Amino acid sequence: MTTSTEKTNLLGMPKAKLEAFFESLGEKRFRATQVLQWIHQRGVDDFDQMTNMSKALREKLQKVAEVRGPEVIYDETSRDGTRKWVMRMDSGNSVETVLIPDGERGTLCVSSQIGCSLDCTFCSTGKRGFNRNLTAAEIIGQVWVARKAFMPFEPNADRPITNVVMMGMGEPLLNFDNVVDAMNLMMEDLAYGISKRRVTLSTSGVVPALDRLGEVTDVSLAISLHAPNDELRNQLVPLNKKYPIAELLAATRRYLSGLPDKRKATIEYTVIEGVNDQPEHARQLTKVLRGLPCKINLIPFNPFPESDFRRPKMTATRQFQHILNQAGFVTTVRTTRGDDIDAACGQLVGRVEDRTKRSQRYIAVQQVAP
Ligand code: SAH
Ligand code: SF4
Repeated sequence: MTTSTEKTNLLGMPKAKLEAFFESLGEKRFRATQVLQWIHQRGVDDFDQMTNMSKALREKLQKVAEVRGPEVIYDETSRDGTRKWVMRMDSGNSVETVLIPDGERGTLCVSSQIGCSLDCTFCSTGKRGFNRNLTAAEIIGQVWVARKAFMPFEPNADRPITNVVMMGMGEPLLNFDNVVDAMNLMMEDLAYGISKRRVTLSTSGVVPALDRLGEVTDVSLAISLHAPNDELRNQLVPLNKKYPIAELLAATRRYLSGLPDKRKATIEYTVIEGVNDQPEHARQLTKVLRGLPCKINLIPFNPFPESDFRRPKMTATRQFQHILNQAGFVTTVRTTRGDDIDAACGQLVGRVEDRTKRSQRYIAVQQVAP
């Protein structure tokens, strides 16, 4: 008997891979077009419902393939409309996906890994350790589940998901191929049809992978900077010791100049009280970013139980913003959304079977702390 794990999961296959799959079955390539629409636009996972294919083909597909998305184990909507799903990826692991509605816009924050190996000091995902990369099916599966939650669509209703940001759990550039496949499906007209300007990859700065990214895609880019000098950034983002600020910003410039249109990078700066929120830091930042086509997004630190860092005072953040604005930078302060259901930036933890043993170390530290 064929068990489900031996079947090919079609959910994560972008068009070219799906065409190759149908060819390998001795079928016409255009079947890929039909199946993409059934799966992603109509949310269908049962081949039997794909009625524009012959019964014989549907039966063949049922034997060798499947459409298997993540299982939703938690689905809650915050007071402010932010919705969070916890999705089980395998027996021991789950990830979190968040939809942030904002007027006509709906931004889905998607995870790329189970946990994260990079261990930034202010990030709760990093503190829980790392288990594995998500497959392309598990990444696009988050979009699929979220979109299905709003089906059937009203004819003239606003689309619930207009933007996707790869800002959930994990470092997307350390799961390169699967993230690229999933982003291609997000942008594919036969699937979600989201413009490349509205699909954003956020990275803490894996420089060689950023250069590779520019060779294969043209999505928008967010750079998690968080500090205006290497000394401070080394403490907050340990990856900086390998790829310091100057190299990261040079790679960002290369990426932007390779895009077919004029676009700015988003510089993300998590503001932490007494750590990186001083006027001097803002002034340094204006020097470091001078000449880079960018907008700056200040994210007040979201506290989580295992961290001693504190959220900055709003007046300090506004002062910081003012200095950046005065120097000519477009700067926004991200409003905290969904924190009553732990859905805000940096609060996403899912359930991670940590292979790095970091979470044990962390728990041990907490136990001896007063
Ligand atoms: N690994 C990628 C994408 C996921 S993190 C990256 O680092 O860019 C997404 C964003 O959430 C990053 O900008 C990160 O700095 C921010 N973030 C993480 N922890 C946070 C916290 N506790 N409070 C506010 N923002 C946080
Ligand atoms: Fe990983 Fe991003 Fe969190 Fe750093 S901020 S630990 S790179 S998820």
